[in-house]
Amino acid sequence: MYPRVVVNKKSLRQNHKILLEEAARRGISVFVVTKVYTADLEIAKIAAECGAEFLADSRTENLKKLGSLNKKRVLLRLPQHSEIREVIDHSEISLNSEISTIKMLGRQAAAQDKTHGIILMVDLGDLREGMAPADIPEAARTVLNTEGLALEGIGVNLTCYGGVLPSKENMQQLADLAEQIETENNIKLNFVSGGNSSSISIMMDGDLPSKINNLRLGESLVRGRETAYLKDIPGMTDDCFTFEAEIIELKEKPSVPTGIIGFDAFGNKPEFNDRGMRLRAIVAVGKQDIKQDGLFSYDSGIKLIGGSSDHTIFDLTDAGRQYKVGDILKFKMDYGAILQAFTSGYVKKIYQD
Ligand SMILES: *Cc1c(COP(=O)(O)O)cnc(C)c1O
Repeated sequence: MYPRVVVNKKSLRQNHKILLEEAARRGISVFVVTKVYTADLEIAKIAAECGAEFLADSRTENLKKLGSLNKKRVLLRLPQHSEIREVIDHSEISLNSEISTIKMLGRQAAAQDKTHGIILMVDLGDLREGMAPADIPEAARTVLNTEGLALEGIGVNLTCYGGVLPSKENMQQLADLAEQIETENNIKLNFVSGGNSSSISIMMDGDLPSKINNLRLGESLVRGRETAYLKDIPGMTDDCFTFEAEIIELKEKPSVPTGIIGFDAFGNKPEFNDRGMRLRAIVAVGKQDIKQDGLFSYDSGIKLIGGSSDHTIFDLTDAGRQYKVGDILKFKMDYGAILQAFTSGYVKKIYQD
């Protein structure tokens, strides 16, 4: 049955080995981020076999799944007050920026006789999560003085909301802040976390200050490229996931509908260019399964026309070969498509060695 994602385990192994080695060679520990594949255990197991010591996810449900792999687990999204119990139960470390949340984590951890690790997030301009740099030293003292907590480090997130790139300047700011906290409190931080897959380029160029010793990597491991300049990483591959879906109708039709145009199924008013008669394939996959514009056919002549909840229409007029009803179309997937394929219960997952 289709649609399905074919998971190429060999490619995933290759990518994890190479990137974890590149990081280790430069003294950088890696939190392997599993959220794009909903912490699928078959895939997370590959990460663990390739040497990942830490598995990180934004959801406590996913971290719970990862428990059987016996690696340290890191919660990436700031904890909700309504999930403090789950955070303590299913992660050893969490990223934080709110004192009220930090205190609740401390109380819950202490009640369970546990020590929970805190990484304080600092906002260096991207405007997603993080405290102002000036507020970090006092927050660090609060963590150090709260029962049930350990101050594991500080971190920054970039290139997410604001698209701000990692630079020598903002990385040095993070490094300086870490130095300051260590000196003021006479401690060593385990993690000075310089960002996500968009920090790989600056790492490979040798431009990370030596104080920065951790990255949190997801997309790069499954797509084989860094995300600041979209450059391929030597030796890594982009064929870890292939999306497959089946043609259920194949007919020549005009490129402009007949009749008065109202709203489509999602409340948008569609517009059309008249390109004459086109060979159109309806594929049995829709918005419930996949981000349709995140699919890229292996047959480069095949182009997306559009789609709705359960149908996607492709233009096959310029396809590289002849197709028929029942044929399977194969696609590369962007980040959003991988994410949605894994969150959709309708998409089967097939694992290939
Ligand atoms: C998702 C996430 C990451 C990983 O980002 P990639 O671009 O996939 O490497 C790192 N840190 C945080 C806080 C995240 O939410």
